[in-house]
Amino acid sequence: MPTATFRFYAELNDCLAPRVRGRSFDHAFQGTPAVKDVIEALGVPHVEVDLILVNDRSVPFDHRLDDGDRVAVYPVFETLDVATVQKVRPEPLRETTFLADAHLGKLARILRLLGFDTVYAQALDDSAIAARAARERRIVLTRDRALLKRSAVQHGYWVRSEDPEAQAREVVQRFDLGRTARPFNRCLSCGATLTPVDKDQVLPRIPPRVRAWRDTFLLCTGCAKLYWKGTHHRRLKTTIDRILGKPASGINQGESAG
Ligand SMILES: [Zn+2]
Repeated sequence: MPTATFRFYAELNDCLAPRVRGRSFDHAFQGTPAVKDVIEALGVPHVEVDLILVNDRSVPFDHRLDDGDRVAVYPVFETLDVATVQKVRPEPLRETTFLADAHLGKLARILRLLGFDTVYAQALDDSAIAARAARERRIVLTRDRALLKRSAVQHGYWVRSEDPEAQAREVVQRFDLGRTARPFNRCLSCGATLTPVDKDQVLPRIPPRVRAWRDTFLLCTGCAKLYWKGTHHRRLKTTIDRILGKPASGINQGESAG
């Protein structure tokens, strides 16, 4: 049977069987499969891959493997100089927006807290998630690698951790989001943006104890939920700073669940 030698780099090894992690290994195949299919058969979703070298030359996903090929597979490197090589995926996304799989509700809320446009796919099955992500050009976030192997999914990330805050840190680092975070700008419930609203306009909705000591209120443009800076704010700010890797700091403008 024809055989190629594979080597996967950096975090792509997380997806491989333990015995082949971090080293070169031989893999037998039948016929002349596309390199993408063999990579996915080994456990690595194509959305994790940014660069494939076959015999030291960069190739696209549909490159056909030959007996004796040496294949090196690289993840997305933010700083990799790729001017001279061919990346396997189309153009990068301009604005980073997400679609979080059904089991990632807490992660979706944290990403919204950080200001990122995030759809929570609570009621969508895999094919609907893939279709909506492609239509709206969103990055699929999931702990289900089978979902990321669907060809309709162009941009995605396999979330490693099971802890929501650690998941958010992963996403921020993977997509280099530290500088683009806009905390307290989105509704945690529906993900729409918040807009300032006159206190007088929403007075009946403000609990009496809050009316006395708050003048700044934000209204969700999607579900009309009302936000103000309340008792949760300091804790949320601390969480945000931990995720973005900032030292603890003072209070910005903000919100609390209303
Ligand atoms: Zn809302």
